[in-house]
Amino acid sequence: VSPLDIERVRADFPLLSRTVHGKPLIYFDNANTAQKPVSVIEAVDRHYREHNANVARAVHQLGEEATSAYESARDAIARFIHAPSRDEVILTSGTTQSINLVAYSYALPKLKAGDAILTTVMEHHANIVPWQLVAERTGATVKAAPIDANGELILEKYVEMLTPEVKLACVTHVSNVLGTVNPVREIARECRRRGIPLLVDGSQAVPHRPVDVQALGCDFYAITGHKMLGPTGTGALWAKREHLMAMPPFFGGGEMIREVRFEGTVFADPPHRFEAGTPNIAGFAGIPAAIGYLEGIGFDRLHATEQDLLAYALDALETVPGMRIFGRAKEREPVISFLIEGAHANDMATLLDLQGVAVRSGHHCAHPLMHFFGVPATLRASLAFYNTKAEVDGFIEAIAKVRKLLV
Ligand code: PMP
Repeated sequence: VSPLDIERVRADFPLLSRTVHGKPLIYFDNANTAQKPVSVIEAVDRHYREHNANVARAVHQLGEEATSAYESARDAIARFIHAPSRDEVILTSGTTQSINLVAYSYALPKLKAGDAILTTVMEHHANIVPWQLVAERTGATVKAAPIDANGELILEKYVEMLTPEVKLACVTHVSNVLGTVNPVREIARECRRRGIPLLVDGSQAVPHRPVDVQALGCDFYAITGHKMLGPTGTGALWAKREHLMAMPPFFGGGEMIREVRFEGTVFADPPHRFEAGTPNIAGFAGIPAAIGYLEGIGFDRLHATEQDLLAYALDALETVPGMRIFGRAKEREPVISFLIEGAHANDMATLLDLQGVAVRSGHHCAHPLMHFFGVPATLRASLAFYNTKAEVDGFIEAIAKVRKLLV
């Protein structure tokens, strides 16, 4: 594949050219949220300037245009993740809502005392806490499959833990802390063999790699729009139709019913059954542009660019005295967690910010993973295709400066 024209790409992202504390911004917090290309910003702006109305409830022209924008986002997402049908794509506010929808509409009615939900030690809290809440209400338990010192899931253990009590298995496709890519296909195969449905948290996968939910063979796939160049407050849950048809709604309200009587209400079919109330229409108006941008670059080129940048950044970080890098997975996305001996993660991040470098510090909504590594917090540099080696160099220089102050 031909290399990315990085200057042209960066010109598409207005925010990347700003300064922070008088320094050129180095934005390495992409796993937290990605910056937006002009095409996405303009799509949202155009929606409010020209098409703003509520969806699916007005016959007037604007109502139809808003509905069409919203439904186009569903089409774009269905295509993007190779869902067999657009009706299997529920639009949500993000992965957190997507997973909670499965927790309350799928798991809560099904689980009983003695049942179990399997997740892993490397999950984001969004793929742990909803299961704990449901477990508390049903008497079920939450089990966590272990990882090894490299930050890779121990697949044999995960499979071993798929015992008959397990009524739902969960795993993240890509770790938001370590960048580890999990073997979702193999996990899904083992789950299918045992008749256990599998939920995959795809938040950190869709910005980096092509996803085909049918090829993966899972039952539920949750994504967030804002990490894949889209507006905040957008996301989706893909679920197999057989599950959606059997799931009662989680939220009740307008736009999710067929007929309401006080004697009883008949719910709409999926996906609308799960989309009560006015959604983030303007946000979804930006989703086809976000997906279009990623596809315009092409995942082959994007992957090659990011992997090259990741290798460069890892090599550069290795040269920093006192460096401890967490996670050494063979297959990984460009997310690097690290600590420098003698320097607190938050102090480092605060001082790096003064150098124009945006990284995240803290537990990254992954307490169990921090616990596994025996640290309260790490620094996390998460890269995107629009970052450059020059930025990595600037980052390393900033670390050297900050390290002198702290160590
Ligand atoms: N899962 C993972 C792996 C994540 O990285 C995140 C976002 N940090 C979430 C879930 C939650 O996504 P959101 O905040 O968009 O709902």
